Amino acid sequence: MEHLQWFWGYAKKRVPKLAAGLVISLCVSMLGMVSPYVSGKIVGSIQDGTWEATLFASLAVIVGAAFARAVLRYIMLRVFERASQDLVLEMRNDTYAWIHRQNFSFFDSNRVGDIMARMTGDLDAIRHFVAYVIYGSVENLVIFIAAITLMFIVSWQLALLMLLTAPVIFASGFRQAKEIKPAFFQIREKFSRLNTVCEENIGGNRVVKAFTKEDQEIAKFTEANNEFYNSHINANSIWVKHLPILEFCAGILNVFLLCGGGILCALGRLQLWQLVAVNGYLWAVSNPLRQMGFLINDTQNFFASVDKIFGMVRKKIYIETPEDAAKPERLIGKVEFEQVSFKYDRHGKITELDNISFVAEPGETIGIVGATGAGKSTLVSLISRFYDTSSGRVLVDGKDVREYDLQALRRNIAMASQDVFLFSDTVEGNIAYGDPEAPVEMVEDSARDACAHSFILEMEDGYDSIVGERGVGLSGGQKQRLSLARAFAADPAILILDDTTSAVDMETEHEMQKALKRRSSKCTTFIIAHRISSVKNASKILFMENGRIAEQGTHEELLALKGRYYGMFVSQYGDFAKKVG
Ligand code: ADP
Repeated sequence: MEHLQWFWGYAKKRVPKLAAGLVISLCVSMLGMVSPYVSGKIVGSIQDGTWEATLFASLAVIVGAAFARAVLRYIMLRVFERASQDLVLEMRNDTYAWIHRQNFSFFDSNRVGDIMARMTGDLDAIRHFVAYVIYGSVENLVIFIAAITLMFIVSWQLALLMLLTAPVIFASGFRQAKEIKPAFFQIREKFSRLNTVCEENIGGNRVVKAFTKEDQEIAKFTEANNEFYNSHINANSIWVKHLPILEFCAGILNVFLLCGGGILCALGRLQLWQLVAVNGYLWAVSNPLRQMGFLINDTQNFFASVDKIFGMVRKKIYIETPEDAAKPERLIGKVEFEQVSFKYDRHGKITELDNISFVAEPGETIGIVGATGAGKSTLVSLISRFYDTSSGRVLVDGKDVREYDLQALRRNIAMASQDVFLFSDTVEGNIAYGDPEAPVEMVEDSARDACAHSFILEMEDGYDSIVGERGVGLSGGQKQRLSLARAFAADPAILILDDTTSAVDMETEHEMQKALKRRSSKCTTFIIAHRISSVKNASKILFMENGRIAEQGTHEELLALKGRYYGMFVSQYGDFAKKVG
C-alpha cells in the first residue's frame, strides 16, 4: 500500500484536473447513449406514422450529440494528457533530485541501467495509466452500467438476457488480473537488465574492442534481449488466454438479443422500436468487455512500475545534512581522524579501516602510500563524508563532519581521483565545473599549475575545445591533468589527490610537484600515490596496510625506521637508495 500512497502524493495535486477530465468523460459516455435511444424512437414513430412531426428534431438531436461528443472528447484527451505529463514531470524531477542526494553506497549497490529503467520505462507506464487507463476504465464502466440501465428501462427481459454472461466475464477478468501481475513484474526486471547490459557495453566499448569481445558482448545483449522478448511473450500468453472468453461473451450477446428479442417481438411482448434501441446499446455492453483485458493489463503494468520506482526511492538516505548544521563559507582545513574504523557493508565482517588516528594541520601535505586495497581511497572519502565512519570521528576544523551542512563541507574540498570523469563540455567548462563563474585567468592559472595549459593550447579550439564523453579523445595523462586543474580551480581548503599523477611522465610530474608546492601552502593537501617522489616532501606520510596505519612520519623519519616505507623506497630506488639511506 505504501507504494500507492507514494503515487497518491503526486496524483492528489492533480485531482481537480483529473476530476474535471472524468466529468467530461462521463458526459462523453452519456452522449453516446443518445443516438441508439433516439434511433429506436424514430423507428417507433415510423411504425406509428407520426414520424413527420418528430423526424427532423430527432435527427438534429443525434447530430448535436455527435458533435458535442467529438468536442468534449478532444478536451478530455487534452486534460488527461496534461495531467499525466505534469505528474510524470514532477515525479521524474523528484526522482532525479533524490538520486543526486543519495550517498555513495546507493551507487555501489544500484546499477546505472536499473536506475535508467526506472527513469524511463517505469515512469512511462505511470504516465500511460494516468493519461489513458483511468478514464478508459471509468468510461467503460459507466458506459456498461448506463447501457444496462437503459436496457432495463426499455425492456427488463432483454436486459436480464444481456447480463447472463456477466459472471463468466468477471471470473475471467479476476483471474487474468491475478495471473498477469507477476508476468509484468518480470517484464520490468528484464527491461532493467537489458538497460544495464546496454549501458555497460556501450560505456565500456573501448575495453570490449581492445579485448575483441564484441561477439561475446553481442551474445550477452542478445541473451538479455531474448529474455526481455520472452517475458513479453509469457505475459501475452497469459492474457490472450482470457481474450477469447471475453470476445466470445461479447459476440454471443448479439445472438441472445436476436433470439430473445425476436421471440418477445413475435409474442407481442416487445415492440420493434424497443428491439432497435436495445440493439443500439449492444456496442455499449460488448465494447467494455473487449476493452477489459487491455485495461487490466495496463493497470497491472502500472502497479509493477510504481512498485519498482517506489522500491528504489524508499531507500533511506543515510548521509544527510543534520538540523542546525554548521554552514561555514570557508574552512581553515584542519583534519583529524580520531580512532576511525569503517566497513563498507554495515552488516559485513570485513573492516576496511581499523582504528585510524592522525592530525593534518591547515596547510600541511599528507602523503598516503601503501599497497592497492590497503584503504587509502576509503580513508580520504570519509573527509568529504562520502561514507560515514562505523566508529570514531572525522573532524574538520575541530568539528565532526556529521555536524556540517553537506554542501558547505564538500564545497571546501576538491578531489582529483584516479578514475577521471570528464563531462561532454568544453575544456574550460570542465575545469570551471566547481565554479562556473570562475574568471578565465583563474581557469588558465589552474591549467598551468596542472601542466595542462600547453596541451590545451595545442588543441584546435583551445579552451573552447569540446571534450568527448568521459574525456574520449584525450590521453590518460591529459585527462588527469584536466582533473587536477579542475580541483585547483575550485580553490579548496582541502585538496585530495588520489593517484592523480599515475599516468603522467616523470618530467611532467616534477613540474606538477613544483606547482603543487606553491598551491598546497594555501590548503591542506592529501596525496595518495605509489611513487615515493610524489610524497617525499609531504609534512607527514601515512603508510597504510590492511586498513591500518602501519607507519607514519616524515620521509626522513620513515626511512630511518627502516621498515615498510623503507622497503618501498628501496624497491623504487634500488641500490642507490641503500647507499643514500
Ligand atoms: P586503496 O585506495 O588503498 O587501493 P581502497 O580504499 O580503494 O584501497 O579499498 C580498500 C578496501 O575496500 C578493498 O578491500 C576494496 O575491495 C574495498 N572497497 C573499496 N571500495 C568499495 C566499495 N565501494 N564497496 C565495497 N568495498 C569497497
